[in-house]
Amino acid sequence: MSKELIRQAILLYEYSGTVKGYFGPVGTLPHRIVPRMWDLYNRNEIGILDLGNASKRGTWRGGRAGADLRINKKYLENLPEKNRLAALSMVLVHEAAHAVLPYPRMLDELAARQITVYYYRELSGPGVFNEAAEIPGSTRRRSLNVQLPPNFGSYGKQSKYLRKGQLIDHMLSIKTYRQRREFNADWVIAHISHWGGPSNRWSSTRGRYIRKLANKVGSYYTAHILDIMESVKTRNQWNRMMRKSGKLRRIQIALEDLGAENQYAARINALQDKWDVTLTEIGAILK
Ligand SMILES: [Zn+2]
Repeated sequence: MSKELIRQAILLYEYSGTVKGYFGPVGTLPHRIVPRMWDLYNRNEIGILDLGNASKRGTWRGGRAGADLRINKKYLENLPEKNRLAALSMVLVHEAAHAVLPYPRMLDELAARQITVYYYRELSGPGVFNEAAEIPGSTRRRSLNVQLPPNFGSYGKQSKYLRKGQLIDHMLSIKTYRQRREFNADWVIAHISHWGGPSNRWSSTRGRYIRKLANKVGSYYTAHILDIMESVKTRNQWNRMMRKSGKLRRIQIALEDLGAENQYAARINALQDKWDVTLTEIGAILK
């Protein structure tokens, strides 16, 4: 039975507008996922198993013993039956995207989420025609359109974040991702101007970026602390950022070094005045 459900879930995606390219710029990824899914399906590498906590949806690990792509049975069982096929299909898309993507892991995750959100938008909007449920030769129309309610699971929220270019902020609010070794100062530098730049980051992300940068030596890293701080607009944002940015003393040491260069000293002073804070150990002397 679970094999038949998986078959239907793959078919649902294969015939979706997302694969046909109606929903958003994700290049060839939607197409490339389909043959990968069938390949995994045919080799019995997709399994619906007990993965513990129902909040976990699925996992992908290529080449492991047993199914490479695993869907959490508990997650599916906890859903209303009418939503299971679509939910399973979305988890399959997300995990199969991991099977296809060659990128480093953080961006990999982002792309896998992005495509799943596009698919979700279709499922929660017009819905997707369920080819697998059609009775050959029958002219009777059954309810073949698979649709999800708006705000299904966390997908509605993720759809909103994606629209604002803040899916990365959502990801970094999840411990699993921000604790990856890959999320370091070099990653911050590589992506600081992406997704709308510092002014489009959540305060928590700004703080987490600063924390990574403040642990490095040299203006190549630490000058970006100023870019981030300068993107803050309200006291509230400032406070929320500073709560996630690690020890103030670390930041002060980093900015102290940076302040030795004149161009940066003026900017540091401006920030100190604006927010009435001490960003260098000897802030008074800088003035
Ligand atoms: Zn993932």
